[in-house]
Amino acid sequence: MSKADMGRRYRMYPTAEQDVTLTGWGHTCRALWNIALEQRQYLYRQRGVTLMGGEQCKQLAQARAEVGWIKDLPSECGQRVLANLDAAFLNFWNPDHPAAYPSRKRRGARMSIPFKGQTLVVRRLNRHWAEVKLPKLGWVRFRMPRALGGTIRNAVASRDGNGWHISFGVHTGRTPDAPNGKPACGVDFGVAASAFVSTETGPRRMPPTLKPNERKRLKYLEQRKSRQLTYAKKHRDGKYSNRLRRTIRQIATVKTKQANRRSDFTHKLTTDLAKNHGIVGIEDLRVANMTKAAKGTMDDPGRNVAQKAGLNRSILDNAPGERRRQLEYKCRMYGSRLVAVPAFHTSQTCAVCGKTDPDSRQGCGRLFSCVHCGHEDDADHNASIVIEARARRTGGSVTNSTHSTTTVRVPAPRRRRTRETLPATHG
Ligand SMILES: [Zn+2]
Repeated sequence: MSKADMGRRYRMYPTAEQDVTLTGWGHTCRALWNIALEQRQYLYRQRGVTLMGGEQCKQLAQARAEVGWIKDLPSECGQRVLANLDAAFLNFWNPDHPAAYPSRKRRGARMSIPFKGQTLVVRRLNRHWAEVKLPKLGWVRFRMPRALGGTIRNAVASRDGNGWHISFGVHTGRTPDAPNGKPACGVDFGVAASAFVSTETGPRRMPPTLKPNERKRLKYLEQRKSRQLTYAKKHRDGKYSNRLRRTIRQIATVKTKQANRRSDFTHKLTTDLAKNHGIVGIEDLRVANMTKAAKGTMDDPGRNVAQKAGLNRSILDNAPGERRRQLEYKCRMYGSRLVAVPAFHTSQTCAVCGKTDPDSRQGCGRLFSCVHCGHEDDADHNASIVIEARARRTGGSVTNSTHSTTTVRVPAPRRRRTRETLPATHG
């Protein structure tokens, strides 16, 4: 069966009744994910057995017969949750493209309910509106400014600070463009500057994602939240008041706005890079390593914890994994090639004479000054040219994404780096 090769996301408007049902299902999906994850961790710890979704699906069928709140959830959604957990583990085990260890989903996280796409029916109501028939729920309306453009392969209903959305994975059957023959470029994604493209003279920065008054409001809301939380703990046995819930909703609304602006910038940047270049060179960074907390252990407390935390925040703000995912499919679409080059010493290598020397980056400033040939440049621009040169040289295949590989490596669970393998000496 052909896979989904494009995503479409629409704002969904369930009725009040449907909203209640969907919210219930969302909580069930989250609970199911957490229970299944715990069960796998427990079995692995106790007997070294790696449990996968197939086995758990059988148990799910049993649980459905016995437990009321699981029964309410359509069976296909439960199966999809387990399949997603499998995918999360496969990504974690994949040595070419390591992802973080699957984590628990907290209450208050973005809520999502996966559906099987093949059976879903979508019909258009008029120019702006359409509806989708969801199992056990009936027709749900959503705004559809742009057509699907293919056949549906999967669907996810999700809720964030802006309300409900429905996302479809669509198979378009579109063949990738022929090589576009445009010039090559290298991109250095920085922390301070969002991106420096080797063919340009200045960095492209993400505009501030919150306006000053919005930042002020967010700070105020978070202070109010912590005050209300303290009160709830002291006087209400930790039970959330309606006011506290409202504050949490208000914070989510501001943060969703921020996330949307970030995503808008990233999309525009990656489209421009893919559309107007024949080769796009990027650094092959391991996000998980870059953002690893500097906390350390009790015996060996980490250094620069606060600085590293700040750095983590700004790296995540620039979302390297997401950027790469977009570049992968957009480059395919627009007939250019994405090349991920080894990242070592790109910032210490001279773009003119090619010599690597840490002394060329005196004082870690923004200036690159080669100690061998005297070449001077903005450090990020110099790095982007080095990346471009490496990309031209390798010029070949990239993309380690697990989404694009057809063969799935079934792994020996050897890279577990979780709580469960840590020696239980503290406490
Ligand atoms: Zn030089």
